[in-house]
Amino acid sequence: MKYISTRGQAPELTFEDAMLTGLARDGGLYVPAEIPQMSQDEIAALAGLSYEETAFRVMRPFIGDCFTDEEFRAIIARAYAGFGHAARAPLKQLAPNHFLLELFHGPTLAFKDFAMQLIGQLFQSALERRGDRVTIAGATSGDTGSAAMEAFRGLSNVDVFILYPHGRVSEVQRRQMTTPQDANVHALAVDGDFDDCQARVKDMFNDFDFRDGVKLAGVNSINIARVLAQVVYYFSAAVSLGAPQRKVSFTVPTGNFGDIFAGFIAKQMGLPIDQLVVATNQNDILHRCLSGQGYHKGDTQPSISPSMDIQVSSNFERALFYAYGKDAKAIAQLMDELKTGGFDVSQGAMQALSETYASGRTSEEETLATIKSELAASGELLCPHGAVGVKVANEHRKADVPMITLATAHPAKFPAAVEDASGIHPPLPPRMSDLYERSERVTRIANDLAALENHIRKNIAH
Ligand SMILES: *Cc1c(COP(=O)(O)O)cnc(C)c1O
Repeated sequence: MKYISTRGQAPELTFEDAMLTGLARDGGLYVPAEIPQMSQDEIAALAGLSYEETAFRVMRPFIGDCFTDEEFRAIIARAYAGFGHAARAPLKQLAPNHFLLELFHGPTLAFKDFAMQLIGQLFQSALERRGDRVTIAGATSGDTGSAAMEAFRGLSNVDVFILYPHGRVSEVQRRQMTTPQDANVHALAVDGDFDDCQARVKDMFNDFDFRDGVKLAGVNSINIARVLAQVVYYFSAAVSLGAPQRKVSFTVPTGNFGDIFAGFIAKQMGLPIDQLVVATNQNDILHRCLSGQGYHKGDTQPSISPSMDIQVSSNFERALFYAYGKDAKAIAQLMDELKTGGFDVSQGAMQALSETYASGRTSEEETLATIKSELAASGELLCPHGAVGVKVANEHRKADVPMITLATAHPAKFPAAVEDASGIHPPLPPRMSDLYERSERVTRIANDLAALENHIRKNIAH
């Protein structure tokens, strides 16, 4: 199995090298050269299997010979052992033919744990075999940083440094980053905003002396291994509801398009998906684009579903690559146009996108109203991201096709908005109810490249 870049100018890589590289050298994103197929019988045989065995069977063809079956099974087992629910991704019924896929039972209470926990173990196994080590640097506005620290903490061949804007993340998010005690994970509270954090990480990657000296690596949402790990729960959920004999639909609260793109891959592999619905908040560039208005940047408006507050949706490039019939030249040109504000999508590609994706947007008021109405209707307390999904799902679902809405975070991760909408302060799950008592470890640091690089050089294990 080979991986190719959406811009066509980077070398083809194996799964392992594509994972360790992250971004392709031509600025593109890696995708599988061919998407493997699962037969109807192979899909039917997933019924009743554990999440781990489902993950093994769905992901195995993407891995090639980078890991043996035995290694890969052990990696998956370690990745999901820390989840707080035996089903890992349980389904709950909200209404006739409407289901919620709870993706928040991992260690940091958001769906990013599904991919991050797995790539933590994949990185460690690959690096151990190569006798190599890396330094992971990342910027976070909240969820990604803690998921990365939880996934890599205690692993001997990796150091992790997460930059977050001092004073601008929620208390739960901060504590999830500052309370892991393992020596190889480091929270850095930067005097600046999220854009500063992101810019400094980018500067580090562009400082080749530093980059090569500390063997810098990235695990942001464009990493193809993260996308592929998310394909698994589309299969487990659909099969629970009768696939492949019965079609199902999904609605996905969307920001960087990594999660819903995993749904596209599941469909290409043979899973009978009827609708794939993109749900956005008021930052609706994707909804506007999928409604035929082109892909044009606006200003980001902070919202109560902050993990979806995006300007440019990085994984959308992968969706465009397939909509343009894998024409890497066309994609490189669109991405050039994006630098100066945006582009229009060709008629043929628009046709392909609308055959695959539907979309909807949710205002702040509608998000709050949905949290309240869903609590009254089904007793479920949604997080604001899940509420964006439920509102859009209700606009698209059909009586005869089960709709599965992805609940991407636990309500306790966004207590202020949830309490505002419902009057209920959502409690943390018992396994982390002592989060507010754990001691914090964090370095406050200037928004300055030299200061950050010095700190990292001094604190990595050699
Ligand atoms: C990251 C995130 C999203 C958006 O997912 P993408 O893959 O970026 O589209 C939605 N909800 C929550 C809670 C998240 O953390």
